[in-house]
Amino acid sequence: MTTGADLASALPGRVVLDPDVLAGVSVDRAGLASAGRPLALVRARTTEDVVTALRWASAHGVPVVPRGAGTGLAGGANAVDGGVVLSLAGMDRILQVDPAGRTATAQAGVLTADLAAAAAGHGLWYAPDPASRAISTIGGNVATNAGGSCCLKYGVTGDSVAALTAVLADGTVVRTGSRTRKDVAGLDLTSLLVGSEGTLAVVVEVTVRLRRQPRPAATVVASFPDLDTAAAALVAVTAVADPALLELMDGTTVRAVEDLTRMGLDASTGALLLLQCDGADAAEEAARCAAACERAGASYTAHTDDREQGEALLEARRQAYPALERLGTTLLDDVCVPVPQVPALVRAVEAVAARTGLTIGTFGHAGDGNLHPTVVYDATSPAQVDAAGRAFDGIVEAALSLGGTVTGEHGVGLLKQPWLARQLGTAERALQARIKAAFDPQGLLNPGKAL
Ligand SMILES: Cc1cc2nc3c(=O)[nH]c(=O)nc-3n(C[C@H](O)[C@H](O)[C@H](O)COP(=O)(O)OP(=O)(O)OC[C@H]3O[C@@H](n4cnc5c(N)ncnc54)[C@H](O)[C@@H]3O)c2cc1C
Repeated sequence: MTTGADLASALPGRVVLDPDVLAGVSVDRAGLASAGRPLALVRARTTEDVVTALRWASAHGVPVVPRGAGTGLAGGANAVDGGVVLSLAGMDRILQVDPAGRTATAQAGVLTADLAAAAAGHGLWYAPDPASRAISTIGGNVATNAGGSCCLKYGVTGDSVAALTAVLADGTVVRTGSRTRKDVAGLDLTSLLVGSEGTLAVVVEVTVRLRRQPRPAATVVASFPDLDTAAAALVAVTAVADPALLELMDGTTVRAVEDLTRMGLDASTGALLLLQCDGADAAEEAARCAAACERAGASYTAHTDDREQGEALLEARRQAYPALERLGTTLLDDVCVPVPQVPALVRAVEAVAARTGLTIGTFGHAGDGNLHPTVVYDATSPAQVDAAGRAFDGIVEAALSLGGTVTGEHGVGLLKQPWLARQLGTAERALQARIKAAFDPQGLLNPGKAL
């Protein structure tokens, strides 16, 4: 019988068998997702550690769940029974920043904010900005193709990934992509690995593209009497401007953030839109956006060119989920619809809240059509747990019926798996299964997730 002790002798000093530690690395931040009991945790520090762990696992037919910081919101990093949790968090070195070539290379466990700070030290900018950037790893961001606020103008994580080093299930090291600005040699394996949620390979090194720092942004905040009016306004804004970010927070979320931060947000608002323009004509574009919000029914708009004030408002948005988590147990959804359908989506979410009797705080990257309706419930009440599940499903159902996707940026993981068959056709799923088999014939990498 395969034991954790066998693995420990193959990887001296890297393997943890303590049940308390194992419990801590068996779940991510998703609610209501099941988790198994792992055999062992491997704390990799080098690519060779990852190779050894995967060779051992494939020789013994043991499943492996790659893990970054465990901030995922879909259950993707949740352990599986009898498997190995392979943590990349200790691979945390920034290997190179190349200012002339405008790239940076980092080990997978580097925190995204640290990578961005290293780039900023050379006057450059790593654009993707998930709200979790201070606590999530670049490897996890690649594996989930994480989004963020600036993605509206500058793209999601995958748009900034130039090259990867990854280890296949059998321990083979592969290098995909290149540092060049353009590269069409062969199939685009980099894009295939981005967003594959640890099911195709374990990413050990990431080379990202950097940009020049953007010009100082002009920030607009607009308050609306209700969510419906705000959603209509955001469609109007995207018709007249190309903001770098365009975020929505409903009244429930604003009040939760205000309770947490005491930063002086208007707690009586029905909904807020927060946007930034950073082009050469940022101030003029911001004024155009503010005017569009007023025409669409904003009760109040304000704009500022002050970097600190703008950053403070963005920080308020980043606190949306932590603030809602203080209201009860939360089940955060992640759906994306075509932008013109956002008003219909927020109406559908409000109907779900009315139907289930639960509070749902809605916020998100509305300019992308990507919302995070967050169901708040009492986990000690079986009736509320059941209602939360129904609310979650009702939101996903609404997004699909509006031509949207079951996940915009958090990934399928475990939570959205039942929905994947609804979104993808039979032929597409079969093709995905054949691709998975080509990378991981024994099906050992993150089994039961994502695909
Ligand atoms: C407060 C908060 C705010 C958030 N805001 C955002 C946001 O704005 N945008 C967004 O997209 N997400 C957001 N998230 C979700 C989460 O932070 C992202 O999904 C992030 O990319 C996960 O990174 P991680 O290092 O924590 O990965 P984990 O949670 O550890 O893993 C996530 C998935 O990636 C796989 N994986 C991790 N590392 C590797 C690797 N090196 N190789 C192969 N597979 C790997 C895992 O198996 C799992 O399937 C937020 C989460 C929180 C808690």
